[in-house]
Amino acid sequence: MTATPKMLLAVRFGQPINRRPSCWLARLGPTVVFALLLCFAQARAQAPSVPVSGVDAALIEDIVTGSRVLADFGVLDGFGHVSARHPTNPNHFLLSRSLAPALVTAADIMEFDLDGNAVGDSGRSVFLERFIHSEIYKARPDVMSVVHTHSPGVIPFTVSQAPLRPMYHNAAFLAAGAPVWDIRKDFGETDMLVRDPSLGKSLAQTLGDKAVVLMRGHGDVTVGPSVKVAVFRAYYTDVNARLQSQAVALGGDVNYLTPGEGAKADTVNLAVLDRIWNLWRMRIAPSLGK
Ligand SMILES: [Zn+2]
Repeated sequence: MTATPKMLLAVRFGQPINRRPSCWLARLGPTVVFALLLCFAQARAQAPSVPVSGVDAALIEDIVTGSRVLADFGVLDGFGHVSARHPTNPNHFLLSRSLAPALVTAADIMEFDLDGNAVGDSGRSVFLERFIHSEIYKARPDVMSVVHTHSPGVIPFTVSQAPLRPMYHNAAFLAAGAPVWDIRKDFGETDMLVRDPSLGKSLAQTLGDKAVVLMRGHGDVTVGPSVKVAVFRAYYTDVNARLQSQAVALGGDVNYLTPGEGAKADTVNLAVLDRIWNLWRMRIAPSLGK
């Protein structure tokens, strides 16, 4: 006789395999039944959905590409996220359901309002730190995309007194400054996560009009006028941080870009962005079966 899943489950918990479901469920005890129900609820919560309606597929693809590229480079790992402001409703934004960035597909993108509430998709699990995005979109009408990373290269600059400064032209946007937000300053001892609107608002205030804000003992946030720019900045913030650590380790004074050099170089970078973006799209295409 071939064992059915139901029979295997019954054997695992030491129950007779021919007992009716209602009986063996009752004998499993409340803890096991609760665990089974929780598994069922989580499976339901992770069910894929259709892409957000009314949004250009190219924008959704940019979020997917950005998520996967940053994961491929190690700027994101199992955590972090890429979002975009909704192109026709500035009071909404697009963000993946709670998922590792390397696994994000178009079907995982959800719509949220600026209070961090999921719009029409309440069955799926969502990122705890979605308030990073919602509060920055509230505070910065010019921002069309937000990236949050736990970038390993950046972490030393979030906990030391050394400011992150522009090492070279690709990270020219850093010349405008990269402030550090310390969650403990206003909120005391927390779990370090931006888990509610007040924390997100405080982070957005420290970001101010800059392109990057570092988060003490946590990571960073980059913003931009498009997904491509925000992802570009997340990548080069990490690269710049690693290079700066190397330059400082060499000893002596480091000759950084000036604000004027940074502004000029950033203009050029934004003009040629598609060159590197197309390269990045090719890089992650195999992971999408293309
Ligand atoms: Zn985080």
